Amino acid sequence: MGSHWQRELLRARGLRPKRSLSQNFLLDETYLTRIADAAALPPAGRVLEIGPGLGGLTRHLAARAGHVVAVEIDRELAALLQERFRAQAHVRIVCQDFLACRWAELWTDAAGPEAFVVVANLPYHAAKRMLMRLLAAKEAQPSRLTVLVQEDVALRICARPGAMSLLAVGCQYYAECRLGLRIPPGAFFPQPKVRSALVHLETRARPARGDAPDAAVFALARAGFGQKRKQLVNALSRQLGRPRSEVQVWLHAAGVEPERRAETLSVAEWTALARQCAREPVSVRS
Ligand code: SAM
Repeated sequence: MGSHWQRELLRARGLRPKRSLSQNFLLDETYLTRIADAAALPPAGRVLEIGPGLGGLTRHLAARAGHVVAVEIDRELAALLQERFRAQAHVRIVCQDFLACRWAELWTDAAGPEAFVVVANLPYHAAKRMLMRLLAAKEAQPSRLTVLVQEDVALRICARPGAMSLLAVGCQYYAECRLGLRIPPGAFFPQPKVRSALVHLETRARPARGDAPDAAVFALARAGFGQKRKQLVNALSRQLGRPRSEVQVWLHAAGVEPERRAETLSVAEWTALARQCAREPVSVRS
């Protein structure tokens, strides 16, 4: 992609993409349109974009949504975007580190942070942390997330029992996850080394997640994946510092064979297991 408005903009401002911030800008307008379409925004909907970069995706979101808040850590890019979107009162550019910002500072309109969706081409180095922050948010959880990540991360998020990881359990506990569009490196500037893929996450309401506390489910999963090549009964007993016989009772009561390995358990099985040991608080050696 020779001359493109985003490359021209960088050149005109004397800016270079910062690798430390995973600045791989998506230039291809067909993909940008397809991402915005796939997000299926309600006409007056509220969108949170993380890492708007040069505003390639922001432009499409602004044309479809009632209110857009875009959080960009790079001061130079944020200043450029503030200028570019000055005339569009429904777009607000916030210059902050999304991992450190306070939710209350993002939404300044009277409606508060209720009912919003997230659409983003996430910076690769921080994508997993950003996703978990969004999903586990106590303040306000998005109803839906449409995010572009590295393809291998997307596949791990959407894995099925047999290939689960802590990331898959984390995401699927909070949301129904579905793989979307694949995008080749050539659609970006600079080109990343790997392909990207869109993931759609429909968040679950609290009751759909079960009655075990979130922390108990994750403490168990962390313990299981802490020694993921071991049989669950051994991994949990070792990591949680509990007698094998006791762990065996929990596993049987939850309908999980003790010989299984962490990667074979579904989120429903981790939740059932957490319910079984709810009487005895789980503490994990870090
Ligand atoms: N949305 C643009 C696009 O699709 O072309 C840019 C996506 S680029 C992969 C990731 C963007 O996230 C960059 O603009 C980068 O500066 C920004 N970013 C990186 N870390 C961030 C953080 N902690 N908080 C907010 N933005 C961040």
